[in-house]
Amino acid sequence: METAFTDDVLHRFLLERAGVRGVLVRLGPAWREVAARADYPAPLRELLGHTLAASALLTGNIKLDGALSIELKSQDALRLLFAECTDQGRLRGLARWSDPLPRTLALDALRDAVLAITIGSVERGQRYQGLVTLQHAELAGALENYFVQSEQLPARIVLAADGEHAVGLMLQKLPDEGGRDAAHDDDAWNRVAHLTATLGSAEMLATAPEQLLYRLFHEESVRMFEPRPLAFGCTCSRERVGAMLRSLGRDEVEAALAARDGEIEVICEFCAQQYHFDRIDAEHLLSESAAPGQSQTPQ
Ligand SMILES: [Zn+2]
Repeated sequence: METAFTDDVLHRFLLERAGVRGVLVRLGPAWREVAARADYPAPLRELLGHTLAASALLTGNIKLDGALSIELKSQDALRLLFAECTDQGRLRGLARWSDPLPRTLALDALRDAVLAITIGSVERGQRYQGLVTLQHAELAGALENYFVQSEQLPARIVLAADGEHAVGLMLQKLPDEGGRDAAHDDDAWNRVAHLTATLGSAEMLATAPEQLLYRLFHEESVRMFEPRPLAFGCTCSRERVGAMLRSLGRDEVEAALAARDGEIEVICEFCAQQYHFDRIDAEHLLSESAAPGQSQTPQ
């Protein structure tokens, strides 16, 4: 088996006999790049891995123009969780927290938490945002719920992550079509859901995508499509950082200049790229009229 193609890859597949479509994402180097960006406590690193895998997973069955992001904000020790996958398969993510962080991060126990999925492009001004209700401790359960609510189709999502890999599996029942027998479809869906429930994190993390699907679903006629490559990649740019500074306003920019001998240094939290702005750059920025739809976090 080609090891080069088993990591950082998205596989779409059909279980033809069962009338189920699926996506399997396996991240290696792309995940390690994100995980190494901060000294994440173990439970948070795992959750960030789940979120990064999920952001790619959710792009599998949609026509994406721009990027898909999953963002969680709360007033608890886990303050921010963010992961994004672009239409080019570029992934980035980060989390912010304050110590002490609880050993188990139950999403449904977070104070004032909001989990949003955003799809589209800031530049083109076309964005759709959906809020995910947090009635599940785990991200996978919350996202399954989201699918049932937004698409009226049952879904199963399994996520796993350790220091090396982040893996996600998503299954969706295809809509009932006139020709198929609804009772048969329900049986098939229950069978597939049952098989999926037998999958443990360790097995998921240790097994190459084709092998994993074959092992789980060999009796369901797995049809795999051309895999899509994924990679770590950041969409930050001098223009975006400039727009972020402009949105802070003159007082804050002046204060930042004064604090560092007339130079503002911005380091991208996703990719560690450094951006520098001196007084002349800042003056130039502040004199431009603000572009609409700029957000302050994350860039
Ligand atoms: Zn960056």
